Amino acid sequence: MRYVTILGSTGSIGTQALDVIESTPGLSVEAISGHSNISLLEAQARKFLPEYVCTTDETKYSDLKTRLSDTSCRVLCGEEGILNVASLPKSDTVITGIVGIAGLKPTLAAINSKKRIGLANKETLVTAGDIVKEACRKTGSEIIPVDSEHSAIFQCMEKRADAKENVKRILLTCSGGPFFGRSLNELKNVTKSDALKHPNWDMGAKITIDSASLMNKGLEVIEAFHLFDVPFENIKVLVHRQSIVHSMVEFCDNAVLAQLGAPDMKLPIQYAITYPNRLPMTGNELDLLTCGNLTFEEPDRETFRCLDLAYKAGKTGHTMPCVLNGANEEAVFLFLSGKIGFLDIAETVEAAMQAHKIIENPTLSDIYDCDKWAREFVKSKI
Ligand code: NDP
Ligand code: MG
Repeated sequence: MRYVTILGSTGSIGTQALDVIESTPGLSVEAISGHSNISLLEAQARKFLPEYVCTTDETKYSDLKTRLSDTSCRVLCGEEGILNVASLPKSDTVITGIVGIAGLKPTLAAINSKKRIGLANKETLVTAGDIVKEACRKTGSEIIPVDSEHSAIFQCMEKRADAKENVKRILLTCSGGPFFGRSLNELKNVTKSDALKHPNWDMGAKITIDSASLMNKGLEVIEAFHLFDVPFENIKVLVHRQSIVHSMVEFCDNAVLAQLGAPDMKLPIQYAITYPNRLPMTGNELDLLTCGNLTFEEPDRETFRCLDLAYKAGKTGHTMPCVLNGANEEAVFLFLSGKIGFLDIAETVEAAMQAHKIIENPTLSDIYDCDKWAREFVKSKI
């Protein structure tokens, strides 16, 4: 039996990770964590009977403990709890399904305990990619991407010792989100519910808004830079409305390898756990005869400005990607709370980047300081 720990089990990635474990023989859950959704956490604990259940929201601890008092689960909470859960002895793999920079410390704790990381929490690499990669180098811990595009790239490169030096370009596909084809003027008054209607994927609220603004693709460009050591100039974003080609790699001899599949996160989640093996998966097969035409086009960088802001932050490096991310997390939160408009997201992120004084080669504590600064900056602008 192999054990897996799921951080953020109550979210979109977390619930699908539990589905994968349920349908895969030989896999079991050692621990799960959620934040505020205690009812779902309780239901998951009763179904999977993990040894540990953690809520990062300390105010929910006594409620969760009471709810699970008739089970064998040990209930933990807060930062200490999540760091414990990320480093338990039995699990060899930790799926990081927490949203935002909140996933950074638990991911580092799992790396320092030599776990394989099934990385969904892209903000970890965006905010502290160099620190995370250094921790992996020291411990030998490997990151297998769960993000569908990066899983596709990883699958195109896998088992090829020469893959990295022979890569010419990464072609990162992008659905274009719900606002594809709209002008700046048409985006002025879009609402939260318009932005939450993603055409192809059912995801958490934050990443769905990021997909609408193309910030998600920008974060993914930085994620790809860290995962695959490809310079920003050689990472190209292509709008592919159908989300069938999950991404591509162009090699030096002009060969382009792609990974295709129906839009379903269970494949990249399962692959991150079972790599280098592939296991059968039932349902959701790709039927090329019925999936329609596959199209590719340039993103509209002038309307969806977050994409270039992310390239700029990535190329600048040091603490700039952390400021981009922190400002964006805060702006998305304010947009979801109805306090700012959709176009204000790019504006405030850009203003934060312009005002930021870069700290070179930041420590983890510098990263948290810059994240805090960026959030305060955005809040001060409304
Ligand atoms: P969700 O919002 O659906 O889930 C987020 C999870 O994180 C929940 O379990 C939530 O708990 C928990 N959480 C929220 N705040 C905190 C906090 N402060 N501390 C600890 N845990 C917290 O998000 P998704 O599953 O959609 O996304 C998770 C990550 O995966 C993101 O980084 C996203 O970019 C990435 N990703 C997601 C994809 C998808 O298809 N959903 C695809 C590719 C990447 P609770 O709900 O109990 O409050
Ligand atoms: Mg993605």
